[in-house]
Amino acid sequence: MNHSDSHNLGFALLAELYAAYNQLAQGQRWACFAGCSVCCQTGRVLITTLEGRYLAEGLRRAGRDDLLRAAAAVPVEPAARPASSFNALARMCLARQEPPPAAGPEAAPGRCPLLQDDLCPVYDHRPLACRTMVSAEVCAPGGQAVHDQWWITLATAFFQLVEAADPAGLFGPLPAVLAAESGAGWESRLVPCEPLPGLLAPPEHQEGLSRALRPVFARPVRGRPLGLWLDEIRSNRP
Ligand code: SF4
Repeated sequence: MNHSDSHNLGFALLAELYAAYNQLAQGQRWACFAGCSVCCQTGRVLITTLEGRYLAEGLRRAGRDDLLRAAAAVPVEPAARPASSFNALARMCLARQEPPPAAGPEAAPGRCPLLQDDLCPVYDHRPLACRTMVSAEVCAPGGQAVHDQWWITLATAFFQLVEAADPAGLFGPLPAVLAAESGAGWESRLVPCEPLPGLLAPPEHQEGLSRALRPVFARPVRGRPLGLWLDEIRSNRP
């Protein structure tokens, strides 16, 4: 498979995972509405490099290269580097190892550099982190979203799958990923993506998660089930 093929396959897998998550989320009652941008102002958008490329593609298609350049130029403080990716955390938890501590005090929340007039200019290309920022109640500015433990388990599983779809990728804050992808540096604020070591789910959610993910893995991508592609990506890793 050449570079362009794997690039396109990556986008196809990502789009299918986003669509599958959206479909599951659509069956729920959320308080989120267009124009509410409380979650876009928390500065906690962590993405993979594949998601960064998909987002950049959306910005280019929308004629917003200016926003792409501006977001990639936002300085990223060292504390914004995540302690680990989702799959690294899962690997350590499943091996009963202690996860690494955060690099330092948590980075201060901030506004997403892409936000325009309280709307996302690339809504259809927004990363999973933004899709999972849903709340059963309207969030107060500076407050927390409200969702139950099941949605945290489900979102974590999707974060793991999105990471697994980016085998050579990196993971970290949105501006650092966009900068790294444009060759402007900031790789030091990112951590490597890892293969799927197993899903992180508490015992009481494991059966429900298998049930929820079965149709996700069966979704066709280029004529083959999504789960088969993820297996193949995993077995082709160096
Ligand atoms: S990418 Fe879009 S949805 Fe996500 S935080 Fe930025 S403006 Fe909000």
